[in-house]
Amino acid sequence: MSDEAVRGLVRLVPSWIVCLDNHPRSSRAMRTPISRLSFILTTALAASVFVSPVVANTGSPPAVRTSSGAVIVKDILTEHRSYSHWHLSLLDPIFMVPSTYAPGDLSWVGNAGIAGSGYVRKLALADLRALDQAARAAGIRLRVVSAYRSYSSQKAVFNAWVEKSGYASAVRYSARPGHSEHQLGTTLDFSFVGGADPWKYSDFGSTRAGAWLKANAWKYGWVMSYPKGAEHLTGYIYEPWHYRYFGRSLAYQQRVSGLVPRYWLWRRG
Ligand SMILES: [Zn+2]
Repeated sequence: MSDEAVRGLVRLVPSWIVCLDNHPRSSRAMRTPISRLSFILTTALAASVFVSPVVANTGSPPAVRTSSGAVIVKDILTEHRSYSHWHLSLLDPIFMVPSTYAPGDLSWVGNAGIAGSGYVRKLALADLRALDQAARAAGIRLRVVSAYRSYSSQKAVFNAWVEKSGYASAVRYSARPGHSEHQLGTTLDFSFVGGADPWKYSDFGSTRAGAWLKANAWKYGWVMSYPKGAEHLTGYIYEPWHYRYFGRSLAYQQRVSGLVPRYWLWRRG
């Protein structure tokens, strides 16, 4: 590559991350075009890794709790609601998918070799199997307690909670129809073989299975949507059993972002 081409590349990279020709601290080695180019490309690569994942929105999604802690509910169709954008769909007490949203590629969870019942999208099967096998290797037998829920089944679930504890309370721990990540077909609630339903424990995250999931599920692409202490950010109570599939690469990116999934999804736009 010519010296001129190298200079062209230099102009594409912000000045604060490159050593220019006349930089007083440039080493002798940096004065040759090849070494300069390799330095520039390495630095640019490091910078691109640093800014990944791509941030489309800035700031925060709309508030889902009032100052007194009441859940703010709205019915706004979420921006990404095609079946191929399952990994981008932001669902919360405000954003929703339509009642007709029903993925056509659902598969019985048992096809991944895991215990329990329900349906999950086929695209999550391989990593569900990997998750289950890793758990087994750690002496834990995971069980799927709840998987895909249609709009109408979510309606029934939510109404049952309303009847049991009233609307203001129900919206804190159950999604209204259209607002549930379970409708995506990529979200599962876990317990373990021989264990009770996870919400019956004072903290499922403290059981062996819950603690293992919390530490390891992301490695297989599964992310806890509603972590502890984030009710004011997610709208929902801590749900250490509720995991949404993002795939391994995105689950890793979500983890290193340090953001709760709802905020991470918002910023991905
Ligand atoms: Zn759930």
